[in-house]
Amino acid sequence: MTSRNSLASEWIRLLQTSGCRQTEARNTIVDVILETNRALEPLEIFEIGRKRQSGLGLVTVYRTLERLEALGLVQRVHQPGACNTYLRAPQGHQHLLICTGCGKTEFFQGDDLTPLIETVAGRSGYVITEHWFQLFGLCSDCQKSTD
Ligand SMILES: [Zn+2]
Ligand SMILES: [Zn+2]
Repeated sequence: MTSRNSLASEWIRLLQTSGCRQTEARNTIVDVILETNRALEPLEIFEIGRKRQSGLGLVTVYRTLERLEALGLVQRVHQPGACNTYLRAPQGHQHLLICTGCGKTEFFQGDDLTPLIETVAGRSGYVITEHWFQLFGLCSDCQKSTD
C-alpha cells in the first residue's frame, strides 16, 4: 500500500467521525478523487478504483460521494454532457476553471461578483446566500495542440 498524503488521512478521519466505517474501499475512493485533477463521474471513480481494490462496489462509490458532499469535501461540477461529476471542494473562496479540451480543472481566487449579486437581489427581492461560478475554456496545453 502506498503511503497516504495528509489530506487523504484527514478526509478518512472526517468520514469516520461522521459514522462511516473505515474500509479499504473507502480509502481507495478518497485516494482516486485526490489524485485526479479533473472532475470524475461516479462510474469513472469506480473503474479507476476497482483496478486497485477489486472488492470496490459502485454503491459504495455513490454512498461515499454523498457523504463527502455532505461533509463539504467534494463538490458537484456541472459540465456540458456530464452534469454529475465530482471534484474535491475548493479551500476557502475559490472558483473553478474547467478545460473543455482535456477536462483538467483548476481553482482560481478572486472574483468580484458583489455588484452583480446586489443588482439581482434588488430586482428579484431574493436574499442571495450562495453562488457558483465556473469558467470553461481551453487550457494552454490544449491551445497548443489544436492546429
Ligand atoms: Zn486542456
Ligand atoms: Zn465568488
